[in-house]
Amino acid sequence: MLAPTTPRTPPPATLWRALADAAPDGGAALSAGAPLGRDLEVEVAVIGAGYSGLTAAYALQKRGVDCVVLDANPVGWGASGRNGGVVSSKFRLSFPTIDKLHGLDTAKRMHRLAHEGVRVVETLVDEFKLTRARFEATGSLRCAHTESALAAIRAEADWVRTHLGDTTMTALSRAGIEHETGSKGFVGGVLSADAGTILPLEYVRGLARGITQRGVPIYESTPVQQMLRRPGEQHVTLVTPGGTVRAKQVIVATNAYSDLTPATAAYQRELVPFRSAMIATERLSPELDARLMVERRSYTETRRMMKWFRKVDGRMLFGGRDAFGKEGQTTGFDALQRAMVALFPDLAGVRVDYRWSGYVGMTFNSLPHVGRSDDATTFCLGYNGAGVAMASLLGQHAAALALGGTPELSLLGAPGLRPVPFHSLRAPGVRLVAAWYQFLDAVGA
Ligand SMILES: Cc1cc2nc3c(=O)[nH]c(=O)nc-3n(C[C@H](O)[C@H](O)[C@H](O)COP(=O)(O)OP(=O)(O)OC[C@H]3O[C@@H](n4cnc5c(N)ncnc54)[C@H](O)[C@@H]3O)c2cc1C
Repeated sequence: MLAPTTPRTPPPATLWRALADAAPDGGAALSAGAPLGRDLEVEVAVIGAGYSGLTAAYALQKRGVDCVVLDANPVGWGASGRNGGVVSSKFRLSFPTIDKLHGLDTAKRMHRLAHEGVRVVETLVDEFKLTRARFEATGSLRCAHTESALAAIRAEADWVRTHLGDTTMTALSRAGIEHETGSKGFVGGVLSADAGTILPLEYVRGLARGITQRGVPIYESTPVQQMLRRPGEQHVTLVTPGGTVRAKQVIVATNAYSDLTPATAAYQRELVPFRSAMIATERLSPELDARLMVERRSYTETRRMMKWFRKVDGRMLFGGRDAFGKEGQTTGFDALQRAMVALFPDLAGVRVDYRWSGYVGMTFNSLPHVGRSDDATTFCLGYNGAGVAMASLLGQHAAALALGGTPELSLLGAPGLRPVPFHSLRAPGVRLVAAWYQFLDAVGA
């Protein structure tokens, strides 16, 4: 047997963890969280216990397929336990751009998929009775930092209404957005009603509890160190420190953490991992609480190096991409705090209680990818920082693919692994692009 490997880093000290630990049952740790300690044989093995892997396993369980979930870390250690909890119905590529590149029919299909993601979250919250995840369909507000940015997002909302019949997007004036957010930093905005917020760690833990109760074993602290398939063999053997899993099909749901072991590292080359950082303040005073973000939506701004914010537990949560730091480093947090205070000067003296970061998986075409890397292996990844809803949907589609189905995937369907060109240059490349974006944002271009 191979020696056990330890998690790459301990789980970050997030606000989500603090909220879960403060619950009366101390967060109801997963009962099935032991590592694998014997050899198993199943129809489908799922690697990764985030939204992708757990929803894949649930879809398999519902079809009566014998499956197991393996994770190198505790459930929700990856992005699923540390994200901002914004449940959105969009892709990084806008629908008018998809129309320009691929035609209106494709834009319509992609629009359906984006909104289906939100429906899946609603359904899972309902089926698994995830009240602790506090899903709220409060909508998402895009806040424009310049008149030209406002014109662009309004034009997009008009296009979506006219060509896709989507009436969930409405424009807000400068006064309207100031009233909603409490910030004078924006000239107007667009509200997307089909979006919401959730407590991400409670959501992923709730999914894990739900599928465990339905009979799917989840083995935590179980890194898959090798995926073996000898010529002529129909099955794949997954090697972990405590035992092997022989499976007819494997679903790789490891996203931006695929390089934890060499067994899944090939999937990392499909992605450009980008650090995303977040801070959460102390509880706001009753006066500030009553004035800032009164509708409790999620809020994003239109700058290229986008910042986003929401209010949780009476605190301001403020996040943004940080191409210059690595996970676990403290770089980027001070810059985030400065950006927060620039938009909300009232927060100048407010203490920051939590700081954390994680990797999002960006793809070359700005869209998630789901497909088969060979006849026994399916993958889903690359949510480009918007995976709460989309990973919940694509995990289910990955399960369908693994069973030989043909779900509607439109542009998300990948013909196989397509490594990012010049992958070894990704880190300097990301920094170069980010620096250029920061410059354009700074000069208001
Ligand atoms: C800071 C941050 C903020 C974000 N904010 C938002 C947001 O507000 N809204 C939104 O929609 N999206 C957001 N995202 C993106 C979203 O969190 C992800 O797209 C989503 O969680 C991906 O889920 P996943 O299950 O595919 O991957 P993950 O949750 O990352 O799970 C992958 C799992 O695979 C395991 N693993 C990796 N390799 C192996 C191996 N070899 N063997 C066993 N296990 C392995 C890891 O331990 C990990 O648990 C954010 C991400 C970050 C980091």
